[in-house]
Amino acid sequence: MFPIPVQRDFSLRALNTFGIDARAQAYLAIDAMDAVDTLRAVRANAELSALPRLVLGGGSNLLLTRDFPGLVLHMCGRGIAVVGQDSEFTYVRAAAGENWHGFVQWTLAQGLGGLENLSLIPGSVGAAPIQNIGAYGVEVKDRFHALSAFDFSTGEVTVLDGPACRFGYRDSVFKHELRDSAVVLDVTFALPRKWQANASYADVAQALADKQISEPGARDIADAVIAIRTRKLPDPARIGNAGSFFKNPIVSAQQREALVQQHANLVSYRQDDGSYKLAAGWLIDQCGWKGKSLGAAGVYEKQALVLVNRGGASGAEVAALARAIQADVQARFGVVLEPEPVFI
Ligand SMILES: Cc1cc2nc3c(=O)[nH]c(=O)nc-3n(C[C@H](O)[C@H](O)[C@H](O)COP(=O)(O)OP(=O)(O)OC[C@H]3O[C@@H](n4cnc5c(N)ncnc54)[C@H](O)[C@@H]3O)c2cc1C
Repeated sequence: MFPIPVQRDFSLRALNTFGIDARAQAYLAIDAMDAVDTLRAVRANAELSALPRLVLGGGSNLLLTRDFPGLVLHMCGRGIAVVGQDSEFTYVRAAAGENWHGFVQWTLAQGLGGLENLSLIPGSVGAAPIQNIGAYGVEVKDRFHALSAFDFSTGEVTVLDGPACRFGYRDSVFKHELRDSAVVLDVTFALPRKWQANASYADVAQALADKQISEPGARDIADAVIAIRTRKLPDPARIGNAGSFFKNPIVSAQQREALVQQHANLVSYRQDDGSYKLAAGWLIDQCGWKGKSLGAAGVYEKQALVLVNRGGASGAEVAALARAIQADVQARFGVVLEPEPVFI
């Protein structure tokens, strides 16, 4: 029998960036070396396979609203390697448990550009495809090649390419059909050999201009992104948070036009399909929530899109604050805000 070193009644406080003090009924750390054997053993175990499962990476996109009455599978496996090259791309594979930012910095240190705009996003490599992480004009899907995942419904390892992952805005197949069955084991990225800078975002362009860099390299862009993020976003090590708490809502051109009639300074961005993305942070700010609190949960002073734990907040308190904000935004703008983190 393969050993399953499960720990019981395990505190998740240090394993979620909101710093919520919730406990898991059972917890299992999974290493890259024997990940598949361990997952197969869990699947074959009558007690463990009957429990609800939560696959955990860095806990930076989760809201634990209460204790978790199930098994947490914590992906801890490490390992990064260049696995191939062709005329267009260098292929780099990283294990699910690698820290995302550490991985991005590793690629840059090898002279491989492509992921620099995604510097300093918290979390793990394995979670990056789950919501197709994105920032400063680049999404994971733009550099994605394939991933391998353990499928709990079959007990086999499957390989998924980009189309199979069905990436969308903060979305993928792992939030839908494969939500309860797939455990991402490793992800392979295709990094362009003919690298081109993406400094299209105003903040990034400004940061480069301030440093008088007119032809930035990948490292320059990473440094600009790191400086901007450090200035704008709260460090989870100091103030508990999960980054942007709501997705930017997408509305039709008609709906946007009606909103502009009532709110002339509405912040919106045209999408390729003619729809518009609204700035959720602006909508929340207009409702007067920036800097406000409800119990120990609050809205970050510098960015209304980020909800924070002001100290000892429960997940239920954060959820209550989120609901109050959603209700106000809907009442004022008729727009529904959808949370970005996964509620557990
Ligand atoms: C300060 C801050 C800034 C942020 N900025 C951004 C940003 O700019 N852009 C952005 O897109 N996101 C951002 N985020 C959100 C977060 O960093 C990303 O969503 C990240 O990918 C989450 O990784 P994680 O390992 O912490 O995932 P977790 O929180 O552990 O898990 C998130 C979800 O993925 C699932 N999951 C995790 N690992 C696996 C796996 N190996 N296999 C299957 N399912 C898995 C979990 O079950 C859960 O449903 C930010 C968060 C913070 C705290």
